[in-house]
Amino acid sequence: MSTASKLPELFGCMVFNEETMKDRLSSASYKAWKQCITDGTSLDLSTANEIAEAMKQWAVEKGATHFTHWFQPMTGVTAEKHDSFIAPTGTGRVMMEFSGKELVRGEPDASSFPSGGLRATFEARGYTAWDPTSFAFIKEGSLCIPTVFCSYSGHALDKKTPLLRSMDEVSRQSVRILRLFGDNETKRVICHVGPEQEYFLVDKKLYNQRKDLRMTGRTLFGAKPPRGQELDDHYYGAIKPRIAAYMKELDETLWSLGVLSKTKHNEAAPAQHEMAPIYTDVNTACDHNQLTMEVMKKVADKHGLVCLLHEKPFAGVNGSGKHDNWSLGTDTGRNLFKPGSTPRQNARFLLFLAAFIKGVDDYQDFLRATVAFAGNDRRLGALEAPPAVISVYLGDELNAVVDSIINDTELHATGKRNLEIGVDVLPAIPQDTTDRNRTSPMAFTGNKFEFRMLGSSQSIAGPNIALNTIMAEELKQFADELEQSEDFNGDLHKLIRRVFTEHQRIIFSGNNYDEAWLAEAERRGLPNLASTADALPMFTTKKNVDLFVRHGIYTEEELSARAEIHIENYTKVISIEANTMVDMIRHEILPAVSGFSSELCGRAERKTIMGASCRYETHTAVQISELTDALLEACEKLEDDLVDVPSEPTTAMAYSHDVLLADMEAARTIADKLESVTAREYWPFPVYADLLFSV
Ligand code: ADP
Ligand code: MG
Repeated sequence: MSTASKLPELFGCMVFNEETMKDRLSSASYKAWKQCITDGTSLDLSTANEIAEAMKQWAVEKGATHFTHWFQPMTGVTAEKHDSFIAPTGTGRVMMEFSGKELVRGEPDASSFPSGGLRATFEARGYTAWDPTSFAFIKEGSLCIPTVFCSYSGHALDKKTPLLRSMDEVSRQSVRILRLFGDNETKRVICHVGPEQEYFLVDKKLYNQRKDLRMTGRTLFGAKPPRGQELDDHYYGAIKPRIAAYMKELDETLWSLGVLSKTKHNEAAPAQHEMAPIYTDVNTACDHNQLTMEVMKKVADKHGLVCLLHEKPFAGVNGSGKHDNWSLGTDTGRNLFKPGSTPRQNARFLLFLAAFIKGVDDYQDFLRATVAFAGNDRRLGALEAPPAVISVYLGDELNAVVDSIINDTELHATGKRNLEIGVDVLPAIPQDTTDRNRTSPMAFTGNKFEFRMLGSSQSIAGPNIALNTIMAEELKQFADELEQSEDFNGDLHKLIRRVFTEHQRIIFSGNNYDEAWLAEAERRGLPNLASTADALPMFTTKKNVDLFVRHGIYTEEELSARAEIHIENYTKVISIEANTMVDMIRHEILPAVSGFSSELCGRAERKTIMGASCRYETHTAVQISELTDALLEACEKLEDDLVDVPSEPTTAMAYSHDVLLADMEAARTIADKLESVTAREYWPFPVYADLLFSV
C-alpha cells in the first residue's frame, strides 16, 4: 500500500491522543481528563492510575519497553531519562508496570541541568510533573510523557512552565476584552503558533572531516566558493532524489508522531530547506518543534546526511531562521487577528491590533533579547534576515486604516470621510500569503503576525512567552480602562486612536535591510541592540522584570536565572568556537600549508637546476609563508586572549564579543586567503563548494 492511502492510519499512530483515550479509558476517566485540560482541574490518583494503565497497555502493544518524562530544561533542548516498565514478580519473572504516580510525577537527578542558581539557593533536586494538555507519544521504544520541570520550592527550571503560565494569562486578559464586546460564550483564548523550520543538509562523510561543524555546528573557515546562491536557482527549486527521500521519511516519522508537517521546499541557499507544520496551540507547537528538530537530525543520519540547525553554518549564503507565526483565537473558533465583516468585529480586531503594536513598542527590547544568542548574532542584520531593530509591518491596506484613524482623514478605499470604530466596516484587508515584505522582523500577514527573528536552533518557548505576556499586559491596561467606560464606542475609538498615535514609531513598511532604516530607526528612538551582548542585559531591567512578575509568568529569581544562563551560554559558545579554531589552525591548517610550501620550494629548486622558470612556485611559496606567519600570529593572539576571559559573566560576555570575535574574524580572513592559494590536495578539510553542492 502506498503512503498516501495509509496516511490517515499513519498519522498520530504513535500518539496517545484524545481518540485513543476515548477508546481506552472509562468514560468517567476520559471526562475527568477532558475537564482537567479545559478547566484546569486536577486529576485524582485513581484516575491517574487508570490513565497510566491504559497508556502502558497501549505503549506495550506498540512495542515500548520504557517510559520517560520528557521535559525542556533551560538549555533549550529536550531531556529524557528512561525507566523500563519491568517490575519483579518475586518468582524470577517480571511484569510490566506503570502507576499513576509514575505518570504524574518524576524526580530526575537533574543536578547537571543549568538552573541559573535557582536550585543552589532553594533545593538541590527538581521534579517533573505531567502536562496533561500535551499528548504522550512513543519514540524509539519509549513512552514519552511531556512534563514540566520545577524545583521543590516551585521555581520553574524549564521552558514549558512559563509558557503554560503565559497562555493562561493572555487568555484571562483576552476574555475580559471579549466580554466588553458582548462575547459571553468564549471561555478560553488560545495562542496559535505555526513555526516554519529552516535547515541545511550536508553529506555525513564530508561533515565528519570538518571539526568546526562537529564541535560548533558551523564552519569557522571557508573561502567563498565560485558559486553561492547568486543564481537564485535553489529557492523552491526541484527537490533532488536524495533530499526527497529524506523529506519523505521525515514527513512520515513526524506524521506518526502527530506533527502536522505540511509544507516542504528548498530554501534560498544551496543545501538549505524548510518544513512548515500547520499551526496548533503554542504548547503543542513548542513540543512538536522540539520533536521536529530531533527527528530531522535522526532521519538525516539514516540517509548518510547531517542536518545542520545552526543559524549560520556557512558565511556568505543565507542562514536559517524559524518564522514564528502567532495569533490568538477563541475556543469557539474565531481568530482575533482576523479583520471581521461587521463594525463590532472590526472594532475588536483593531483593539487587539492596538494592543499588539503598543506591546511590541513598549517591550521591543525584551523581544529582541528572546532571540539573542551567539548563533543568531551571525544571522540578524546580515542582509538576509531582519536587522536587530524591531519594527512592525502592517501592509498597505491596514496602514491606510491606521493612518486614517490617527489623522482623522479620509480612507480612500471606503470613500468615507473617516473611519469610526465600532460603527464603520473596514475596507477589505487581504490575507497576505505573498509575503510582500520579507524584510520585516514582525509582519502582519492578514490574520497573524510573523515574528521572523527567531533562530533555527532555538526553542520557540521564550519568544512566545514574551509575546503572550506583552499582549496580556496591554489587554489588561485596555480592559482596566474600558471596563470603567460609560460610552464604550466613543472611548474605544479614543483609546485606539491614542495608542496608534503614540506608537506610530514602531510601524515601518520599508526595506528593513536598507542601511538607511537603521538611521531612521535611531531618529525614531528605536533601540538597535546589535548583538547578544547588547540585548541580554534587557532581561533584567526593572520595566521588564516588573512585567513578568506582575503577570505571574516569571518570578524575579526565575528571570535573572534565565538571563544568567543565556549570558554564560554566550561566553561558552564563543570559547568553544575560539578553541576549535585554534585547534584547527595548529593541527590542520598550519601543518598542511607548511607541507605544501615545502613541496613548492622543492619543486622550485628542481626547476631552477633545470633552468626553468618557477614563478608560480616561488611566488606562491612566498605568499604562503607570509600568510602562515600572519595566521600563526593571529592564532597566538587568540590563544593569549582566551586566557584572559574575565570571570564575571556579563563582563566575560562583552569581552567574548569585543575581543575574541574580532580575533577569530582576523584569523579566519587569513586562513581563507591561504585556502585560496593552497592546492586542493593539501587543504586539510572539505571546502565550501564540496559541502554546499555535494548532495
Ligand atoms: P509563508 O512561508 O508564506 O509564511 P508557510 O505556509 O510556510 O507560509 O507558513 C505559514 C505558517 O503560518 C504555517 O505554519 C501556518 O499553519 C501558520 N498559520 C496560518 N494561520 C495561522 C494563525 N492564524 N495563527 C498562527 N499561525 C498560523
Ligand atoms: Mg513565512
